[in-house]
Amino acid sequence: MPELPEMETYREFLNHNILHKTITNVEINREKSINTGVQTFIEAVKGANITFVKRRAKHLIFELSSGKFLLLHLMLGGLMFLGTTKNSPDRTKQIILSFGELQLNFIGLRLGYLHLLSQVELDEKLSDLGPEPFELQRDVFLDRLERKKGALKPLLVDQSFIAGIGNCYSDEICFQARLHPLRKASDLKEEERNNLYDSIKPVLARAVQFGGYMDFPMYEGDEKTGRYNENTYVYEREGEKCPRCGGTIERVEHSYKSFYCPSCQMKV
Ligand SMILES: [Zn+2]
Repeated sequence: MPELPEMETYREFLNHNILHKTITNVEINREKSINTGVQTFIEAVKGANITFVKRRAKHLIFELSSGKFLLLHLMLGGLMFLGTTKNSPDRTKQIILSFGELQLNFIGLRLGYLHLLSQVELDEKLSDLGPEPFELQRDVFLDRLERKKGALKPLLVDQSFIAGIGNCYSDEICFQARLHPLRKASDLKEEERNNLYDSIKPVLARAVQFGGYMDFPMYEGDEKTGRYNENTYVYEREGEKCPRCGGTIERVEHSYKSFYCPSCQMKV
């Protein structure tokens, strides 16, 4: 599932390519992906333009010139492709927003959605999310961590604890902090708590630099998206060598699967 770096990569790209262009056509091929009737959705979106694309957690928010918002969550398997009818991938598109020749395709929206919302509805929908990692202050993080008892892995992927982190980056952050993903938050020493905080932003910022891990290009000729795949530390690298100590990376299944190095991510 795309996490903060993947959605941030999309956000930057879309902000450069679709802002202030009129939405000339709206095609809905899967009604379950939207939250209104098809006609209502089309009438609200067609003819408007997108004034800004923001990100909150794993969501993108398309701000429309009409004052409404489109809230996107790609969930598992969802992706976007910006192109034309000539170069768009041969995949089923659940939703297509056209800007003249240019088309923004939403693909693989099985659990994912694009919801039309007012400001009030948007705020309500996002109200349970925890703080954004890049805006998170050390004292706030340490204070929130102190009140938690469970293991690090489920905690880091808990969107109400910290927003935007999922399976991949929680493992990468634990690796960077030299902490076993099943360590209990309540058992961490002060230095370890600080190491955890100090690992969050660098891991996510590095992943944004590499264009996240999405393995599908965002446009024709896209060589940026997905380069994090070749640059992960431990995620999905079971049996490979640890880039820090040379130990063998293992995978552990708890409530989530986690990848870690048993040699340099100490359990106790
Ligand atoms: Zn190691």
